[in-house]
Amino acid sequence: MAVENPMTLNVKWEEPRVIGECAGCLSDIVEGEGYIEFPDGLLVHYDRSCAMTFCLEYGELKHYDL
Ligand SMILES: [Zn+2]
Repeated sequence: MAVENPMTLNVKWEEPRVIGECAGCLSDIVEGEGYIEFPDGLLVHYDRSCAMTFCLEYGELKHYDL
């Protein structure tokens, strides 16, 4: 006979620790997720779409016209 202990269940559902905000998708980066940390402190998920969004958002579009 298994009796569930509500205290134990609460511990299991504890929220993961938030490390910071992704500069790409602007959602939280939580413990256990891969992320890239830049020298100036910016954090981006280790994810192609986040990295792409970050580049397009923070980078400046340059054209080299001949
Ligand atoms: Zn992200």
